[in-house]
Amino acid sequence: MSAVIELSKALINRASVTPDDAGCQALIAKRLEAIGFDSHWLPRGKVSNLLCLGPGHGPLLLFLGHTDVVPPGRESAWTSPAFTATERDNRLYGRGAADMKSSVAAFVCACEALATSQPLGIRIGVLLTSDEEGPAQDGIQAVTDELTQIAGEVSWCLVGEPSSQAQLGDVIRIGRRGSLSGTVSVAGQQGHVAYPELADNPVPRLAGFLTALSQTHWDEGTADFPPTGLQITGISTDTDVGNIIPGQASARFNLRFSPASSADALRNQIDQLAAQHAGEAQISIDWHLSAQPFVSQPGALRAAVEHVIRTQSGHAPIANTAGGTSDGRFIAPLGAEVIEFGPVNASIHQVNESINLDELNALTHWYGEIIKRLAAVI
Ligand SMILES: [Zn+2]
Repeated sequence: MSAVIELSKALINRASVTPDDAGCQALIAKRLEAIGFDSHWLPRGKVSNLLCLGPGHGPLLLFLGHTDVVPPGRESAWTSPAFTATERDNRLYGRGAADMKSSVAAFVCACEALATSQPLGIRIGVLLTSDEEGPAQDGIQAVTDELTQIAGEVSWCLVGEPSSQAQLGDVIRIGRRGSLSGTVSVAGQQGHVAYPELADNPVPRLAGFLTALSQTHWDEGTADFPPTGLQITGISTDTDVGNIIPGQASARFNLRFSPASSADALRNQIDQLAAQHAGEAQISIDWHLSAQPFVSQPGALRAAVEHVIRTQSGHAPIANTAGGTSDGRFIAPLGAEVIEFGPVNASIHQVNESINLDELNALTHWYGEIIKRLAAVI
C-alpha cells in the first residue's frame, strides 16, 4: 500500500465531523515535524487550527485544507461504514475520501518525498482547520493575522479542495463567487380566513416581492465569473392552519454573486424592490454576507499547476470560479495567488464518498511536481 493511501485511511478512520478534528491534525503535525516542519497550534473555541512551516527560505507556498467532514447522513445507506476507510474496486471509500482528507494526505506525502532532495528555494507551509464545513468563523478566517505574524507574506496558496469534475485535473479554480443571504419578513394583520376584511394578508405581498426577485437580471458576470444568480430557499408563515390569515410571512434567499455586483449594490437594489412590492413599513430584511468574491490573476502558481496537469494528463485544465465558497476567500485578501486543485468532486457530501486509488497516487505525484516546478521558475 502506498504511503498516501495509508495516511488517507488513517485520517478517514478518525470521525472528525465539524468542529471535531478527532486527532487528524496531530497526526499530520507528527508526520511533518519528522521532516523538519515547525508546528503552530492556533485553536479557537472548539475548532482546531494547525499551521506547519517547513524549513528553508524564500517565498511561501501555503497548502490550505480542512480536516473536518460533513456528517455521514443515513449510515445504513453506506455500503461500508463511513468512518472505516475501505478499499473496493480500485477506490477508497469513506467520509472525507474526496473532501478532502485524501488531498491533505497527498500534499503531506508529496512533502515527505521531497524532503530528501536539495533545498528548494521556496518555503512550504500547511494550514489546516476543523471548521470549513461549518460556520467557518473560528477557522481560517480567525487565524489569518497569526498566520502572517508567524509565516510572513504568503506568495501562493494551493487549496486542495476537490475541484476536479470527471477526471483528475480537468478543472481548477482560480476564484469563487460571493455568497449573500437574506431573510425577508412581511408583516400583516392576523385574522379569520372567512373575515378577510378584518385582516391584512402578508402572503400576496411577499409573493409579489419574491416573483420580482426571481425575475431580476442582476449583472452580466465578468470574464471569470458567470452572472450573479439568486435562489429562493424557503417560504413560511407564522401560522400553519387552514382557517387563519397569517400575521407574518417570511422567506429566505441566497445570491451567489460575481464582482460585477457588490454586496452593497445588491442589498440596495433588493431593498428598493421590497419597498415597491411590500411597503417599506411592513417589510424587513436580515442580511448575512458569508463570502466576498475573489479571483486570482494568472501568476506563477497557476502556470505551475497548469504545466503539471498538461504534462501529466495530456489535457489543459479548465480554470473557473464555479462551486460553493472555499476558505481560499480568507487567504486571497492577504495578497496571495490562490489556486484550487484537488480530487474529483462527484461523490462529495454523498453516501459512499470515494476516490479512485490511481488518481490519489497521481495527485500526490502531481503536488510534488507543482512544488518543484514553482521552485524552478521563481
Ligand atoms: Zn472541502
